[in-house]
Amino acid sequence: TYIMIRENSLFCKLVRIKSSSKILFDSFMAGFRSELQTCPCCGAKGSCRIHAYYDRSLVDFIGGTQVRHSLCIMRLICTCGHTHAILPDFIIPYSSYGLFFLLRVLAEYFLRLSTVERLCERFGITLSQLRRWLQLFRVQKEDWLGVLSSMEVSGLSFLKSLLTQPAYSDFASAFVRRFTKSFLQSHKNPALYCQQAFGP
Ligand SMILES: [Zn+2]
Repeated sequence: TYIMIRENSLFCKLVRIKSSSKILFDSFMAGFRSELQTCPCCGAKGSCRIHAYYDRSLVDFIGGTQVRHSLCIMRLICTCGHTHAILPDFIIPYSSYGLFFLLRVLAEYFLRLSTVERLCERFGITLSQLRRWLQLFRVQKEDWLGVLSSMEVSGLSFLKSLLTQPAYSDFASAFVRRFTKSFLQSHKNPALYCQQAFGP
């Protein structure tokens, strides 16, 4: 079974640094200790070891243009037999676009800095892609806040509240716990998936 582990990272720091997802990923993995992890399936501590690596692409928006990185994702295997891909929370499972890319598109959309056509052109995305992200954002905002509260909080306010949190990973972890998928993840997880955010 193919399962992922969500990893925490300091979101705000990342936004301020304006670093690339690739640099952040490499620095995150440099500090990652597989022997300290808890298996999200069986709960055992220190029972995971490195199983394999695979390549994955991730799209960033740097210097006004799309940049595609290739990331080397580590997969752990636990003595219980489950495998876990290690993904920091700025990687959205099943999305080739990184979290920063999506949040930036959404922020510029809500700030109405330009027309929707210009926005899509600037980010190199189609109008239907933008609509899918907006719809996903609205649905998940409502899931998170509840229908009534969601009506009182604009998209921009909600986005701002996420970006200004002291630790985005707290939100990311809580979201995964409640909805068993990541924020802005559109595809559902496989049936035997036990995605979990780990503490730093
Ligand atoms: Zn296990």
